[in-house]
Amino acid sequence: MNHIIVDLEATCWKSWKLRNAMEIIEIGAVKLSADLEELAMFGRFVKPVIHPQLSSFCTKLTSITQEEVDKAAGFSAVFSEFMAWVGPEPYYWYSWGDFDCKQFGKDLAYHQLAWPERETHYTNLKYLFADQRDLPKPVGMMKALRMLEIEFSGRHHRGIDDAKHIAQIAKIVLKGKG
Ligand code: AMP
Ligand code: MG
Repeated sequence: MNHIIVDLEATCWKSWKLRNAMEIIEIGAVKLSADLEELAMFGRFVKPVIHPQLSSFCTKLTSITQEEVDKAAGFSAVFSEFMAWVGPEPYYWYSWGDFDCKQFGKDLAYHQLAWPERETHYTNLKYLFADQRDLPKPVGMMKALRMLEIEFSGRHHRGIDDAKHIAQIAKIVLKGKG
């Protein structure tokens, strides 16, 4: 079983009122082998269609620019490229929190696509991390990294950089899973 660690970025606004209109603008992912060796990385921007214009809040948060999403392919094309990158091997997939799983569901539904038939087991690493360490409540990715004394390098809120660091946490958590 490979392990696929995913982090999505999405259109956003200062107000969460528009959260139902959020769309994926970046898919970042890391593929680990069954023995937790890093096999490959995936990072693609996605062109949003509901609100094609990024808010300045979104660009500030993620550092993703209007030009980068304008040049990007749409969700359907990037998602099939992503699934091709995931490859034919069986896999489990993971993210930090339930946002990514939910947002994938929303974008797939909006584009009238189904979850891939071979969609396999999903684990929310945020909860697994909290369970393993008996934390009183789940913590954010940055706090988990500080607890593990892993320094963040790159840009927080960029899918590819977040995915790389969540993969580092995943390696530790999955080793401890026994
Ligand atoms: P993250 O993986 O933490 O970078 O967050 C994923 C997505 O959630 C971002 O691309 C934003 O769309 C949204 N998001 C994260 N933090 C905030 C925030 N403080 N305010 C509004 N949206 C946010
Ligand atoms: Mg992120």
